[in-house]
Amino acid sequence: MSFNRNIKLCSLKAFPLIAQGGISPNMALGKMPTRPALLLRLEDTSGCFGWGEIWANFPPRANIHKAHILEDVIASEICGMTYVDPREVIEMLRKKLSVYFLHIGQAHVFEHILAGIDIALWDLSLRSADMSFSDFMGLKSNYGNTYATSINASDLEQYIPKHAEMGQRFFKLKIGFEEHGTAEIVKKGNKLIPKGASIMVDSNQSWCLMEATKKLRTLEKYHLIFAEEPLRADASDNEWATLVSSTNIPIAAGENIYGENNYLKMAELGLKYLQPDVAKWGGMSAILDLAKKLPGEVKLWPHFMGTAIGQYAAISISAAIGEQSYCEVDVNENSLRTDLCDHPMTIRNGAVQLPNTPGLVPEPTERAIQKLSQKVMNQ
Ligand SMILES: [Mg+2]
Repeated sequence: MSFNRNIKLCSLKAFPLIAQGGISPNMALGKMPTRPALLLRLEDTSGCFGWGEIWANFPPRANIHKAHILEDVIASEICGMTYVDPREVIEMLRKKLSVYFLHIGQAHVFEHILAGIDIALWDLSLRSADMSFSDFMGLKSNYGNTYATSINASDLEQYIPKHAEMGQRFFKLKIGFEEHGTAEIVKKGNKLIPKGASIMVDSNQSWCLMEATKKLRTLEKYHLIFAEEPLRADASDNEWATLVSSTNIPIAAGENIYGENNYLKMAELGLKYLQPDVAKWGGMSAILDLAKKLPGEVKLWPHFMGTAIGQYAAISISAAIGEQSYCEVDVNENSLRTDLCDHPMTIRNGAVQLPNTPGLVPEPTERAIQKLSQKVMNQ
């Protein structure tokens, strides 16, 4: 389970994409007017390649912004680098560029970019070694558990039964909208889920401590799996600890946390579910490393909302952790998730089978890349 091939990188290409049609989730943070995404393709001197995804859900042209950074700043640095383990490239890029990104006020954007590069490096390394992720990791099963997420308040009747039929047993509802009520949405969702299934809620950092304490109290009778981001990710340690001790609902967060030490600190403060996003912080390497360091009572359930590339990477993390980890899969239609690769992502018994082919993720088709490509000049 360690990489042993020497790889020399020779090209990096950025692919800003945008979904055609589909439905965007509503969140307390705001509606997504479009579904942008950013893929990257790394190639080595032997012609082998790897695909990665960089988080770019917001703002609408985040994909174009980060594509420019890849082309203008990262490509010239990464080309020519040699490595055995993907962590070496990430380390070299950090050494060369972290002060630059601090200077331009985009340290977190740099983290998103490094995360996507790490995914592409894993894909390249596994493809080069002619191994699938599950073979490389020695997994007993190449299925990753998933749960249904981002169900809009107006779509509960449509999506809960549909995803229950796919074997989903956990359903995450977006809350934090005054117009829909908080307990009202949960009550409605609770009536629609199958026997033995459970609800969790996500309020996307929209509450202060006092509001979160009050709102969670109204939800305690519904036996939620967790409440996600009830506070801002940068709330003080004291606020997180106070909230944790004020409710019997397990607290979750992670998609807006950066750095291993900060995840470990959240575990110490009493959060029971940590949710790093593979395209936003750490990529495969740092999240798999983090999973090994978490105390037994804290679960790592990967966050994800994007294309099939990052989705397969995120589900692979759940598969590697095992039965106790579930990765979120958006219920809403999104051509970036369903039409990008020939490899269909089918949810059966709540789980998704990882590709058996060499590499981490299935290769996007040229046809799909062309169709979904976001033109820089005319947007
Ligand atoms: Mg969330």
